[in-house]
Amino acid sequence: MNLLTIGGADPSSGAGIQSDIKTFSSFDSNCFTVITAITSQNTKNFSNVEPVSAKMVANQIDSVLSDSEINAIKISMVYDKDIIKVIHSKLKKFKGPIILDPVLRSTTGGILLPKTALVDFKKFLIPLCTVITPNVGEAEVLSTMKIKSKNDALKSSKKIKKFGAKHVIITGNEFKKNIITDFVLENSKHYTLQGKKIFCTNHGSGCVHSSLLTFAMASGKNLKASAMFAKKFSYNAIKNSEKLGKGIPISKIKIKDDIRNQLNQGINDFVKINKIHSLIPECQTNFVFGKKAPQKLGDILGISGRIVKSGTQILVAGRLEYGGSKHVASAILQISKKFPQIRSALNLKFEPRIIQIYRKKGLEISSYNRAKEPKKTKRGENSSILWGIKTAINFQEKPPDLIYHRGDIGKEPMILIFGRNPKEVVEKVSLVF
Ligand code: PLP
Repeated sequence: MNLLTIGGADPSSGAGIQSDIKTFSSFDSNCFTVITAITSQNTKNFSNVEPVSAKMVANQIDSVLSDSEINAIKISMVYDKDIIKVIHSKLKKFKGPIILDPVLRSTTGGILLPKTALVDFKKFLIPLCTVITPNVGEAEVLSTMKIKSKNDALKSSKKIKKFGAKHVIITGNEFKKNIITDFVLENSKHYTLQGKKIFCTNHGSGCVHSSLLTFAMASGKNLKASAMFAKKFSYNAIKNSEKLGKGIPISKIKIKDDIRNQLNQGINDFVKINKIHSLIPECQTNFVFGKKAPQKLGDILGISGRIVKSGTQILVAGRLEYGGSKHVASAILQISKKFPQIRSALNLKFEPRIIQIYRKKGLEISSYNRAKEPKKTKRGENSSILWGIKTAINFQEKPPDLIYHRGDIGKEPMILIFGRNPKEVVEKVSLVF
């Protein structure tokens, strides 16, 4: 996923562009950046701000949009009237979701949008956005009214929507003691999302929230699911915030992804196997690990590139992504229907001697013949591998450790090694040597 953030640089990295890079990266997305202003601030004080020229902001936007497909855009600190106008003119034709975080002031007191820019902000930026995410204070300024109740939040969000936003989320309301409520106006319907209050003043939590929302919307989640996702991981970021400086703690997302940890470890162990380059096929190797009972490729973590060989050297080219592998992940999708315990696999070069070694070691082996594949499955995407694995396990009572095929015209022969987890797969690979 390619996400663009347009905003200010914060040297403490707790907020602004630097924080957005961390948030997007935590969810394996690429973060493109357009810097509108440079601030000097830390966890205690906001000392200065210098805007980047509007021309340079325009140039940065052109550089990004002319080169890469961007799935969604987040706009936060814009600071200056001319910058606002230039963002408007550059993004008015953008087709994906635009999330606008109307940052006016930092928690440490810095002015992020001078009052003189507010009129243009409303006129040019709000109409661009799919969702605007003011906190209570920001919503009060934008709608020029106090928010004390749900009814006030409804009135305020309707006023903000009138400036041209499609949806409005007012974060951080405390309608009930110790319960923090996000108020959502989605088109004309409204609802609230509630969570426990964490007693901690924080640097960057608003930035984290709008970045999470941007990621979720770009992933295709609907507004409610995106708002729930953003609320859940903002809570996580505040809970895990770290006191790095002398002032307030910095929000920090911590994701516990055991599947990722285990696959990372498996890949590290795999590439360290002595002479492993000799087992990498022409089409290179992918290594995958799925969630329990995977239903789709997106439930299976794999390498978006491959494990490649260059002479005797091994390189991991690409990142770990759910849906990152098509071929090996399809094998897991198919095999796990019959043997749900099998969740990890990788592909190796086919050599008859390798099959003999595994036979001697007593591994469970099955195979299929690609030359016998019906014409109709050859046409669909990944349907060859789905058909092959189904054929190979049709009469298997025990889950196979290995399935191979000897190729077909223009198709490289291949071995797939299976296991319950990446560690088991690597142990089986090591048996060859
Ligand atoms: N600095 C920059 C550059 C920001 O973009 C933001 C919020 O978007 C902040 C500071 C605000 O940080 P805080 O969470 O301390 O209010």
